[in-house]
Amino acid sequence: MLVYTSCFCLAVWLILPDINHFYEVSFMGFRLANVGGRAALVSGEAYYDLEKISHGDFSQDPMQALEALSELSALDAQLENFEPSGQLADVELGPPVPNPKNCYAVGLNYRNHAEESNMAIPPVPMVFTKHTSCITGPTANIEMRSDYVDYEAELVAVIGKPGKDIAREDAWQHVAGLCVGQDISDRPMQFSAAPPQFNLGKSFDTFGPIGPVLTSLESLENYHSMEILCDVSGELRQKDNVDDLIFDIPFIIAYLSEIVTLNTGDVIFTGTPAGVGVIEGKYLRDGDMLTTSIEGLGSLRNRCVRVTDHSRADILPDAFSKLLAAAREKAAGHK
Ligand code: ZN
Repeated sequence: MLVYTSCFCLAVWLILPDINHFYEVSFMGFRLANVGGRAALVSGEAYYDLEKISHGDFSQDPMQALEALSELSALDAQLENFEPSGQLADVELGPPVPNPKNCYAVGLNYRNHAEESNMAIPPVPMVFTKHTSCITGPTANIEMRSDYVDYEAELVAVIGKPGKDIAREDAWQHVAGLCVGQDISDRPMQFSAAPPQFNLGKSFDTFGPIGPVLTSLESLENYHSMEILCDVSGELRQKDNVDDLIFDIPFIIAYLSEIVTLNTGDVIFTGTPAGVGVIEGKYLRDGDMLTTSIEGLGSLRNRCVRVTDHSRADILPDAFSKLLAAAREKAAGHK
């Protein structure tokens, strides 16, 4: 009888995939936000203070929430029993992962971006780091210290369960969730040394907005295929789908974890598609509104503010001058 029942259940499970989907979406997963430095769960347009609704089982620290993901999902499933702490429209969100131990990023990870950059498809992920101090919130200002600051819309993965030597097929189990990211770059600083110093050029304070919330995989309809968009003051600059990644998230996790232990809360920027400013010759200007969106994950809305020059803002390295000339030629060719 037990065997019969199991088989029956299995049969129902297999022939009714819509029910599987319904259960996944309705009873598991979470959206985690940072409201004024305090962890909160999000449902619709409302947020629920995590420390308050868990009666102190969770602290206010969003980083600590990532250490108990199943408890977080269980609490999320009961949100309707609580009074919301407030509405998202009334508050400013901070980065959902404010203090990662490490922040990795992958360059040239979309075929069309490698092609527009005249670079070969790399045989392994081209990894650099963004200093964690550049992480900022989904509506924070971006402070620009030269006239050549660039945007890069990116899908960001956040590690949940830590690990070393993680197999590719196990990698998704180590992901707490996904969010939108902007890998902002100061191109003169990036190209001021040879080979280029990616980490410093992309790590000025405010150069790593992430958010608006951290969305667990179970809360997403299809996290393998999501449209990614970047809009600068109303002009669409980048449009692609994350299914175009050359090295997907499991590959990147397997590759990185051969070298470093991945920690809870570590952040991985996965690369940007074609359309970046350095190729088009269109840089961010004072007052621009930079909107970065990924289907199912929401949008970042960052105002660009030109502040004082850094010491090399007017010293354009040769490698960068060549890119500027190529962009001018490209623009002239389009006329
Ligand atoms: Zn990037």
